[in-house]
Amino acid sequence: MLYNLSRTAGLPTARTVDEVRQVVTEWRAEGHTVGLVPTMGALHAGHLSLVELAQPQTDRIIASVFVNPTQFGEGEDFSTYPRDEVRDAQKLARVGADLLYAPDATEMYPEGFATQVFVVGLTDVLCGANRPGHFDGVATVVTKLLTQVRPDVAVFGEKDWQQLATIRRLAIDLDLGVNIVGGPIVREADGLAMSSRNAYLTHAERKTAAYLNRVLYAAAKLIRDGKPIQNTLNAAHGRLIAVGFQDIDYFDLRDEATLEPIDILDTAALKSGRLFVAAHLGNARLIDNLRLSSGI
Ligand code: AMP
Repeated sequence: MLYNLSRTAGLPTARTVDEVRQVVTEWRAEGHTVGLVPTMGALHAGHLSLVELAQPQTDRIIASVFVNPTQFGEGEDFSTYPRDEVRDAQKLARVGADLLYAPDATEMYPEGFATQVFVVGLTDVLCGANRPGHFDGVATVVTKLLTQVRPDVAVFGEKDWQQLATIRRLAIDLDLGVNIVGGPIVREADGLAMSSRNAYLTHAERKTAAYLNRVLYAAAKLIRDGKPIQNTLNAAHGRLIAVGFQDIDYFDLRDEATLEPIDILDTAALKSGRLFVAAHLGNARLIDNLRLSSGI
């Protein structure tokens, strides 16, 4: 089957559910395990690190590229989201992915499509509170990708920590039988988490963006040193505004598993606390997160 597929920059490319299933069936018949790395394309080193993380864990790796319309809200950047399939395929081939799965929207959501996956609780806070419907779109498309491919392992980045937690939950709850693996955040030299949306930043904004991670680190240290949590979070918020961010959706300290807020620093909080931030800069909405114990 692989040999019958079209290729993008040399990389075999499945465009339909049937095609990807046939490839996976063949691989399974040959005794291979299968890994999936779902993405929305405009690939950078953060995405590629997920392919590399999957490599020692599975025999064959599929990277999907699908800019999922249902996870973008009204007025968000669906139409302007960067798309460059040929370059994506080149990068994926270079790191050794075996197949690009790039369905179009009508393949993913054929006429009459009427089902949604909702993960309650975890999706009510943080980005869920600011982007209504976003995680319903994510949960639905990821459930579809996981049932289309039925991989042994699927890898997601810790940069989207809430998304990772939501996907872990749905994979357990829906008995998908897939091992969900989280990959560490890959950063630029100045600490900015790599993101396809960093391309929206002007030169000056790109410099300012580095404060997001700097302020997270500083806040983590202050909280660990015993400074009052709420004051520290407020000050961090103020600092981001002072350096040029237009708006802060949240700057929170939460338990990294339950996403419940943390108000008191005890041993459990030190272990499971994570800082989360989402902030607007120019045309970009940037997110980042950091374990409270990072840097110890
Ligand atoms: P996206 O294309 O933005 O939907 O991201 C696809 C996958 O790559 C998601 O699992 C993201 O969490 C992950 N990802 C994006 N940026 C990074 C990064 N800087 N480091 C690690 N993983 C990332």
